Amino acid sequence: MKRIIYIPFDHLHPKYGALADADPKNDLIVLVESARMVTGGSWNKVRLYFLISSARHFKAELEQLGFKVLYEKAATTVDGLKAVTKDYPKLPIISAHPSSHLQSKQLAEFGVSFIENDFFLTPRNLFTSWADNQKSFLMESFYRAQRNRLGVLVEAGNPVGGKWNFDKENRLPPPKNYKYPPYLKHKADEIDQQVADELGISPCDVWGTNRKAAKAQLKNFIDNHFANFGPYEDAMTNENWALHHSLLSPYINNGLLHPGEVLTAALNAYKKGAVDIASAEGFIRQVIGWREYVNGMYWYLGADYKKSNHLNANRKLLPLFTDPSRTKMNCVKTTVSDIKTRAWVHHIPRLMILSNLALITGTNPQQFLDWMRREFIDATDWVMVPNVIGMGVHADNGKMMSKPYAAGGAYISRMSTYCKGCEYDPKLRVGDNACPFTTLYWDFLDRHKDEFVKNHRMSQQINGIKRLSDLPQLKQRAVEVLSGLDKGLI
Ligand code: SF4
Repeated sequence: MKRIIYIPFDHLHPKYGALADADPKNDLIVLVESARMVTGGSWNKVRLYFLISSARHFKAELEQLGFKVLYEKAATTVDGLKAVTKDYPKLPIISAHPSSHLQSKQLAEFGVSFIENDFFLTPRNLFTSWADNQKSFLMESFYRAQRNRLGVLVEAGNPVGGKWNFDKENRLPPPKNYKYPPYLKHKADEIDQQVADELGISPCDVWGTNRKAAKAQLKNFIDNHFANFGPYEDAMTNENWALHHSLLSPYINNGLLHPGEVLTAALNAYKKGAVDIASAEGFIRQVIGWREYVNGMYWYLGADYKKSNHLNANRKLLPLFTDPSRTKMNCVKTTVSDIKTRAWVHHIPRLMILSNLALITGTNPQQFLDWMRREFIDATDWVMVPNVIGMGVHADNGKMMSKPYAAGGAYISRMSTYCKGCEYDPKLRVGDNACPFTTLYWDFLDRHKDEFVKNHRMSQQINGIKRLSDLPQLKQRAVEVLSGLDKGLI
């Protein structure tokens, strides 16, 4: 053996990262299941099931390709590598660049050498040169540059379909009397069952745990969901937990699928005429735009960015986040319950229900970030730090987003079916039946009016406060709502 190749649990692809030029004759492969990952805190067990079972399947896949693979269980990743180097003391260790600041630091200190992380479509230095030339880091500017750079949905420098962005077409509420295609179910094998037993849960058939299953999920999306993805991508309904979302982010983020192959499948479907431009653009924006932008910003903004708390939000994490029975808010109860079941909800409940609630209640950004990291199946540091600190709770003084994503009950009422079964009324901002989102939205704007009045994108909302004849009662109701949320009674 000439080298040790360390494979983090989010680099599970035999053709990318450090495995791209690996040779079974020369390379010893090491994966480490660290106790810190499994037992260090209250991780969502469905998330752990997916990550651990995928890694154990990947070990078996590499062995079939002829590699010697060591799957170490240790207190930490570095401890696992230390154990291996006792038996192979002189071998250099290489890895593709890890996906968090902390792991990069720890592995570099241990002497691991890094090669380029190619699990993204944008090398880090390319993103840095883009960001260095921006006055503000607008995702839309980055996305257009990506479309041009990658030659995706562009003709002679112009966007296919006449515009770059089909968001207006893609904001429909949930459809009525609609038949959703059945969910794709993944059958558990022996490895899955063993991991589930170790975690004390049943295998979750929503998620596959190997490359074959990931490819089946991609095909299922392209064949059965892609055409209707766009119009309903922002909708939320208790009739169907996934709508037409692809459910591909876990596989792209742990390496079982490469974003390049997802992009190719989407473009092929569009070229064949199977989907219209609005759905094609809406989905491709997520893959080549948002995902790459969020990863780029994570590295560009540095390790301390996650500590930002510009709005001085210091409320403790609300009890409803750990126990959905501690709230009567139907939208929140449904969303948190869905996360406990599958470790996943789509981007709108993440942003407009969970993050919005954390933002307008003034919940501490780091406590909320920690919760999001632990609960979601596709969460890693690079995913959650920019999405929560920058986009979700505006703790970064607008470095990423020019305005906070604060909204009252009217938005949730328009885009979901949740309000019908709720004891609160989204139209009311005062009184016992007032929707907590509606009350707290105005209270949040009022609390931060001096800050936001300087922001031209917020001035209309801030001016709206002056038209509230019942502001004193609203402020009083906000005190009651916040106290009720702290006690788990609202
Ligand atoms: Fe959520 Fe308010 Fe609607 Fe209830 S009324 S479901 S709390 S938005």
